[in-house]
Amino acid sequence: MKYFGISFLDKFHCSKGVCPKTCCKGWQILVDAKTMEKIEQEPADRRKTLLRNIKGQKTDSPQIRKRLGSCPYHTGEGLCGLQQEGRTDLMPRVCREYPRRTISYEAFAEIALELACPEVARLFLEEKEPLSMLPWQKEEREILWKIGNEDLPFLEFLQELRQTMVDEAQTQERFDVALLYRQYRCFDAMHEHLMRDKRAEANAVLDAYRNRCQESRRVGEQEDLDAGAPRQMLFFPMDLVDKVIAHQLDLPNLAVNNAYLKKCIRLYYRLCNGKTAEEAGAFFEKVWQEMEEEMPGTYDKYRKYYIYYLYEMLLCVYEDYHLLKTILLGNMYLELYMVMDAIAWLDCKKHKVTYDLELQVRTLSSLERRMRHNTGVTDGILSRVRKDFL
Ligand code: SF4
Repeated sequence: MKYFGISFLDKFHCSKGVCPKTCCKGWQILVDAKTMEKIEQEPADRRKTLLRNIKGQKTDSPQIRKRLGSCPYHTGEGLCGLQQEGRTDLMPRVCREYPRRTISYEAFAEIALELACPEVARLFLEEKEPLSMLPWQKEEREILWKIGNEDLPFLEFLQELRQTMVDEAQTQERFDVALLYRQYRCFDAMHEHLMRDKRAEANAVLDAYRNRCQESRRVGEQEDLDAGAPRQMLFFPMDLVDKVIAHQLDLPNLAVNNAYLKKCIRLYYRLCNGKTAEEAGAFFEKVWQEMEEEMPGTYDKYRKYYIYYLYEMLLCVYEDYHLLKTILLGNMYLELYMVMDAIAWLDCKKHKVTYDLELQVRTLSSLERRMRHNTGVTDGILSRVRKDFL
């Protein structure tokens, strides 16, 4: 198996006991079948103790039985008791691997990192080099998800598609809604063909798009068109984003599990209640411009987030061929991030505090923790987008 890893993968080191938001709390921790087998092989007393910490043992999804919201192996120093004992083999696979997310596609696997981990969010925000997937020759990682559809032409198509879109997003002078829409229309056209099993037509759309990108890069067409025009970022109208915030992110337990995000959402309500969708949209466009003026690189941060999403998610379309769903979800994640980032920045301005790297890490990782690690949230976002946007 060949491995590829996101370009800053080798810089990651877990902050362990000093992590500001340990991954051992607040989440459901599933125990995989292989780890269950390992536990069954332990001596009787030990096995009994280990099994006491697992609920749903007879179901398809046994999970760690948490005590007051924390993993029972979480020590007072903020470490994992099983790891301290040197028994990583008894830890659920997700704990051994997190925040790495390794997905295999036929003969190769890709390792991405979850931005919900504050250390990963920090590395991501600090990264100056363009993101890429690089050959990974260090230790092998455990596969979390295996996608094996035995449809290599489609996998190659997705790889080419991802490279084309990443190249365009990385090289365009401006990252804005014009780029997002251009790519979205291309995804949409290809999706239509794929749903009707018209592969040749989908390939033709991709070829035409790639040629157009190369040509426009050659003549600098886009830069000329955009020169002087105010930058616009909103892909989804704010009334749709507002519904997602209110119904998918802001659930009753949020203040307990994710107090920082809850605070940002409260501020969002305070700033946007009473505004129409158009007024709210204009308000955020203005805030992002001000952020760019005061913190140059803000738009590029959003560009990097979009590219990261393409790397992380686009090949997963290999599983269900649903290209449109993946890209719409990514665009919504991006917009939620931009909105919460703007809110956190405004709050800092109000309190005369610098919106420094640590606070930006907090915004990004808190939001990721809420919106990406819960299938209920993902399904809710998708059904809302389907209803109000498509
Ligand atoms: S959230 Fe990240 S840095 Fe913190 S304990 Fe987990 S893996 Fe380590």
